[in-house]
Amino acid sequence: MNQEDIFASIGESTEDTEFFTSLPPGYRPGQCKFVIVVGTVMSGLGKGIFSSSLARILQDKGLAVAPIKLEGYLNRDSGTLNPYRHGEVFVLDDGMECDMDLGTYERMLNQNLTRLNFTTSGQIFSRVLEKERKGEYLGRDVQMIPHVTGEVKYHLRQLAVETKTDVVFVEIGGTAGDVENAYYLEAVRELAFEEGPSSCCFVALTYVVEPPSLGEQKSKPAQLNIKQLMAVGIMPHIIACRATKPVTRKVLEKLAMYSNVPIDRVFSMHDVETVYLIPEALREDGIDETVLETLDLKAKKNAQVEAQSRARWSDYLTRYRAASSPVTIGITGKYTSLRDSYASIIQALEHAGTHHGIKVEIVWIDSTELTDQNVAERLKGVDGVIIPGGFGVRGVDGKIACVKYARENGLPYLGLCYGFQIAVIEFARNMCGLGGAGSTEIDANTPHPVIDILPEQRELASLGGNMRLGGQDIAVASDSMISKMYGGAESVRLRFRHRYEVAPQYIKQLESAGMLFCGRSPDQRIMQILELSTNDHPYFVATQAHAELTSRPLRPDPMFLGLVAAAKSFADSKDGQSKKGERVTAD
Ligand code: GLN
Repeated sequence: MNQEDIFASIGESTEDTEFFTSLPPGYRPGQCKFVIVVGTVMSGLGKGIFSSSLARILQDKGLAVAPIKLEGYLNRDSGTLNPYRHGEVFVLDDGMECDMDLGTYERMLNQNLTRLNFTTSGQIFSRVLEKERKGEYLGRDVQMIPHVTGEVKYHLRQLAVETKTDVVFVEIGGTAGDVENAYYLEAVRELAFEEGPSSCCFVALTYVVEPPSLGEQKSKPAQLNIKQLMAVGIMPHIIACRATKPVTRKVLEKLAMYSNVPIDRVFSMHDVETVYLIPEALREDGIDETVLETLDLKAKKNAQVEAQSRARWSDYLTRYRAASSPVTIGITGKYTSLRDSYASIIQALEHAGTHHGIKVEIVWIDSTELTDQNVAERLKGVDGVIIPGGFGVRGVDGKIACVKYARENGLPYLGLCYGFQIAVIEFARNMCGLGGAGSTEIDANTPHPVIDILPEQRELASLGGNMRLGGQDIAVASDSMISKMYGGAESVRLRFRHRYEVAPQYIKQLESAGMLFCGRSPDQRIMQILELSTNDHPYFVATQAHAELTSRPLRPDPMFLGLVAAAKSFADSKDGQSKKGERVTAD
């Protein structure tokens, strides 16, 4: 069967063809190329970072790219996943709750993504079952092949059509050999067959172990797992080897030899200081050219566009390397043992620090251990503090103690989502005389429910998905500090993920005690950003939104910029004070 016959047969859904693959309207086979990244040996190798860096260097050449993460789990989205086990839940502008890798893609590509860029097995199977009920499979028994794999291919092609993309970057979750992703691998194998030569570039991301007892890199686990990939009919075009140290020539040669991949297509990808160094490292190794060659895309690259975007990127890296005068920011949360739970906040701090030429050091403060008695001592070394998003009762008292300390001692503060609600609770209790004020999330019988469930979320409660999600416009008060920080913008767009809000009946009282709600929903009903006057505090800002999600290396979020700048002044003044103190004793 030649390629034309294959194209002609896919898209047919008659009773007697075995080539059932429906095509999205407007899709021409071969119109788009695919780079498919599969993990081997183990998970946690930074497949998303690798894949997004690769996408970035192709985007730099003027190509339109669209990433997609295919998750093996049966959840329909990441909304119910525990951040302690799976890392933060990243929220897209359209409200999709997804894997943290989507954050990496948005930051690396400086591009807003949508629900089309993220799929789980739960979504794939649901769609197949819905189609079956509608009779769309024409009386056929519905099977993993061709129907479930057909649904995967449909989704990939739909993404290509709707985003008018040149190259789709497919990241398959898990590792080769997992039961969960076996049908994804089958689907991309079929895709490559159907789309024809030069349409798909398979990249095996692997891991080279270096057992301390041997003190030597070993390629066997990588070899064996790549074989597993070949056993399902996928021959990698490129092998990228993760390792702590640069991978030796000997190991690269072995992998080339055992996997039929020429040595110049086997790359070392060892640990670096910031993920934003990886695109340049891949470019230096020539992976971009290898991908273009494999996909027959050399004619499409635009050298002028590439030079410009490289210059912007390298400006960021130059600033990053030059950043000095460290400040210390404390993050007070309950998942402090796993950094992935706060991945976007760490990134947003890096963006803001780099912009100011300041190295931000992060210290983790476990809110479950904080009390009014120990808070001064625990926050002694920090120049600014963040209370991030969170849910439930655990650690709340410690967070309230932390805000109180920051407010009373002029310690720069940024509250994000739960950190915004905690700031309101603390202010109500200690500045408005509303003893025992709280949130109905924490205590249903609080005497002063200053934070209460949003009426629209209450109505949704019975449906399960009762979170206010996604990008929302915020009307900014023109006379506020926030307005200045956002360059005088009357409206800013940030992303949300919450159920509770400031109860409207308390707003007047809070404002007359000095809390300014300077960002509100356009209808003025929902309080979204607050600040304290700079006469009372150098930097006390909080937002109901997750400002960290939309900070980008080349476009840092202004609230983070403000925090880092204020922390620097705080550090300098502390320094000044202690120097003065030293002089006094010396005299
Ligand atoms: N628990 C709070 C709410 O649901 C805050 C949510 C968050 O921090 N993401 O409103």
